[in-house]
Amino acid sequence: MNTGKTRGYVLTFRCINCGRHEVFAHYASERIVFEDQIRGRLYQVSCESCGWNGDACGLSAIRISHTTELKARAAGQGLGFPCLNATQKKLAG
Ligand SMILES: [Zn+2]
Repeated sequence: MNTGKTRGYVLTFRCINCGRHEVFAHYASERIVFEDQIRGRLYQVSCESCGWNGDACGLSAIRISHTTELKARAAGQGLGFPCLNATQKKLAG
């Protein structure tokens, strides 16, 4: 069943192109997730101000907030794999 809404987290990023805090990513989860886990992921994001889009690591998010009304088809879904930083750390260690 798809109600179109789900629980999860909204990450806010600063746009590297225009500098505004208009870049959002979503981490969908029905459970409480540790912030470290959310930050360790890579997200496909786009700026709602200037239209820039690209990948952003959760580590660079300026804000993470929980929501119970996450749009299922919203832009900026988590890509489901860790960001490069985390991967490199793993390889190095
Ligand atoms: Zn922008």
